[in-house]
Amino acid sequence: METNKNKVAIITGGASGIGFAIAEKFVQNNIKTIIVGRDQQKLGDAKNKLGELCDSFSCDLNDLNEIPKLVSKIISKHGQIDILVNNAGINMKKEFTEVTDEEFQKILLTNVTAVFALSREVVKHMLQKGKGSIINISSMASQYGIPKVIAYTASKSAIEGMTRAMAVELSPKGIRVNCIAPGFIATDMSAKALNKDPERKNKVLGRTPMGELGQPSDIGDAALYLANGEAKYVTGIVLPVDGGNSIGF
Ligand code: NDP
Repeated sequence: METNKNKVAIITGGASGIGFAIAEKFVQNNIKTIIVGRDQQKLGDAKNKLGELCDSFSCDLNDLNEIPKLVSKIISKHGQIDILVNNAGINMKKEFTEVTDEEFQKILLTNVTAVFALSREVVKHMLQKGKGSIINISSMASQYGIPKVIAYTASKSAIEGMTRAMAVELSPKGIRVNCIAPGFIATDMSAKALNKDPERKNKVLGRTPMGELGQPSDIGDAALYLANGEAKYVTGIVLPVDGGNSIGF
């Protein structure tokens, strides 16, 4: 069985919510974990909590020119990248006709274009070693129709397609690419979408057979599985971790 010792992972958006829970699982399992985000204070606090196996780099991933520089800095300091978790993402809840072109583009920039640009730069290094694992994060918005999240839905549907396209191109070269589709997970993002909208929250829970929101650590467990050797024959999948929400009546 391969060991996690000496493995290096990047988790975008690793200072909060689901990304932080994934980072916790990774450091608990001996993976050197680099968290990336924009808010330096949040990154510093998370790094302190995660301990010495964690490092942090601040970067606005919307600034695509910064992405190759970020990856170079990480390689100079840590020498390799074995795992990439493309977790950073933004959401916006708004009526279809109210969404401006700029808002639509901004969500696509963070949730899709930046994921592509970072993956491309990281893959260049993974190819030199002939191995790696990439985990993308989609959403229930790409499993069925959810109103008032048009740009988010477009972005997360793109992520699932990109996961498959990357998997067929990169798996022959030793790089596995998978996707987790979280159900409704208790984080700031879902609180913003649900807490002032009891009708939507009831609808979510009503079609979740397990009857409650998921915990960020549930996604951490799934990411750890996909990242490490136990999933060595798994590539190109979208794994719902959703308490049954995607198949609920
Ligand atoms: P949070 O809002 O808690 O976390 C999002 C993270 O992304 C933050 O740490 C933020 O850091 C980072 N981020 C956002 N934009 C940028 C950027 N331009 N550059 C760098 N970092 C950025 O959300 P969640 O933890 O809930 O969501 C994480 C992922 O899971 C997202 O992709 C989301 O779509 C997905 N998801 C969440 C669900 C849920 O129920 N919570 C359900 C399904 C999917 P900072 O602000 O410091 O930049």
